Amino acid sequence: MSSSPATSRRSFLARSAALAAIPAVATLAGGALADPAAAETGSADTLPDYAPIPPSALGPAVNELGYFVGRAEKNLYWVTDSTYQAAFLTTREGVVLFDAPPTIGRNLQRAIDQIAGANGVSNEVTYIVYSHHHADHIGASALFGRDVVRVGSTENKRLLERDNDPARPVPDLTFDERYTLQVGGERIRLAWQGTNHTPDNIYIHLPNHNTLMLVDLVLPGWVPFYDFNLNEDVPASIAAPATALSYPWKHYIGGHMGRLGTRDDVVVHQQYVADIADNVRTALATVDPTPYFTKYGNNAWAAAKTYLDAVADYAAAPVIAKYTGILAGADVFTASNAFIILESIRLDLGYGSQIHP
Ligand SMILES: [Zn+2]
Repeated sequence: MSSSPATSRRSFLARSAALAAIPAVATLAGGALADPAAAETGSADTLPDYAPIPPSALGPAVNELGYFVGRAEKNLYWVTDSTYQAAFLTTREGVVLFDAPPTIGRNLQRAIDQIAGANGVSNEVTYIVYSHHHADHIGASALFGRDVVRVGSTENKRLLERDNDPARPVPDLTFDERYTLQVGGERIRLAWQGTNHTPDNIYIHLPNHNTLMLVDLVLPGWVPFYDFNLNEDVPASIAAPATALSYPWKHYIGGHMGRLGTRDDVVVHQQYVADIADNVRTALATVDPTPYFTKYGNNAWAAAKTYLDAVADYAAAPVIAKYTGILAGADVFTASNAFIILESIRLDLGYGSQIHP
């Protein structure tokens, strides 16, 4: 039985969002995925198996167009394609959109139309707030035209001017540290508190909607993606969830995966990261580097790679065991997360650094 066009489109949409982050990573890694011909030589039969995803990691089913839109609180809504998230606030002066992931793309306006039509309010996007400059979160910004007021941190503007990507127009309205955006009687508190995931990432707090949006740090129900979410400042990113919890809120929009987050999700993430850091220290004190340097001799890179990978794997093993069934992907990305946290403990904190006698 052949699948209907609608089914094919659904399965394409379901796959496309999950795959959206891959090309950049594969290209950076220079791996087999960078070469489509090489990728085709693989077979699904030979790919590794991973633990099942805990049901708590999943959100509501998407509709036939590939999105779900739900209410966070009052006139604040969130949209997902089950991998990426955006949000929007309907006001009497139009709609404030928070991020515009290209995987959700034209479904953003469809979701807004659906809600605005049902509530008899304007469906016109008048503002877009950028969480940070990454294309996977705001690469559909240009769909909303030139008349929209785009809002981001000063650092966000600097990075978008550098990137010069027509899909991501630079913000018109910028702020250094704090700004309260007031639209149609609504208050949106924006705060830049230094680098974390990226140099420009901001805290988006809607105090009257009990919601905090903070993207690419805590991914509710899931462990972080590669390298602790492709991290640009590990110590600051480890500290950021405590800052998030210092705000009053009930609903957390993390920018990823299929459901809203809770305060408990942030606490579980903090514990996961703390467990990695603890086990990294144990691993650095336990794994003997001698065999790696003995085997590889003057190939210092081979020795360093195999030794540091062994430390990361040693640190990851008990964390994978503890979080499998609690956080999705624990067995997929914990070794990668442990590696980047290991490097931060060595290089940012100076742990284990020794001066030649
Ligand atoms: Zn990002």
